[in-house]
Amino acid sequence: AVPLVVAVSTAISAKNGLLIRDRVAFEKARNIQAIVFDKTGTLTMGKFGVTDVVKLSDDITEDEILSYAASVELHSEHPIAKAIAQAGKNRMNVDDFKAIPGKGAEGIVDGKHVMVVSPGYLREKGIKIENEKINEMLSAGKTVVYLLIDDELKGAIGLADIIRPESKEAIARLKKMGIKCMMLTGDNEQVAKWVAKELNLDEYFAEVLPHEKSQKIKEIQSRNLVVAMTGDGVNDAPALVQADVGIAIGAGTDVAVESADIILVRSDPRDVVAIIELAKKTYKKMV
Ligand code: ADP
Ligand code: MG
Repeated sequence: AVPLVVAVSTAISAKNGLLIRDRVAFEKARNIQAIVFDKTGTLTMGKFGVTDVVKLSDDITEDEILSYAASVELHSEHPIAKAIAQAGKNRMNVDDFKAIPGKGAEGIVDGKHVMVVSPGYLREKGIKIENEKINEMLSAGKTVVYLLIDDELKGAIGLADIIRPESKEAIARLKKMGIKCMMLTGDNEQVAKWVAKELNLDEYFAEVLPHEKSQKIKEIQSRNLVVAMTGDGVNDAPALVQADVGIAIGAGTDVAVESADIILVRSDPRDVVAIIELAKKTYKKMV
């Protein structure tokens, strides 16, 4: 049988937009020592806008860079893709669209192999870029992706996301409770560093590939810490399962929600504080 206080707490939490799917995990929530947040869509709104287009080749215009990129991205669900698809006006037909998880997207446009990829992908291929404007975008905390046509670098697209106004307060309150706050992201090192500084995070891990996210959680657990993970994306699901307490942002993907122990209906990171406080109260009454 479910003890009465727990039943009451579960009802109270549901009324406040905190859905407890796993009661054992809820009990562990009172002892959380480290929280790992996904960046995009969790600490930030996950709604990007294109801010800059940079030409990296003489045989293409800025409009063409956007058009090629937008054509491919129209077929991707990624938040970066949505912004680029919206920004490109003259979209072309795409064959053989493929997502490259954690790295980008590709397709055939007008007989040419078009890719939109992360800085990490370029590094992997040994392609180096030295560009003043790109450096400026990176140090301003922007996300930068690159357009390749038939394996040649043609341009860069800079995008900006917005940090959720509630994130700062959530982190400050968690830290006051003695909980280590960390961030995990597939995005570039500079953006991660910028967000980590804005939010006063204890640690961050950048350019983490989707299949490495749960491994990172394991590593943190091996420091003898009770670890919670908060995320919204398909690629966060294994990490949510691995964590001692998996918390999904309600507006996130179905896969994330189904992999989580607790769901925050309001997509407000301050609700992570609320759930910990409620767990502490609930289980204090029982001893
Ligand atoms: P996160 O969920 O932390 O944003 P992802 O694993 O989804 O990380 O993506 C990591 C990086 O891969 C992105 O920051 C971007 O550079 C690149 N990427 C992934 N998908 C796309 C896409 N459709 N278009 C362009 N870049 C992408
Ligand atoms: Mg995300």
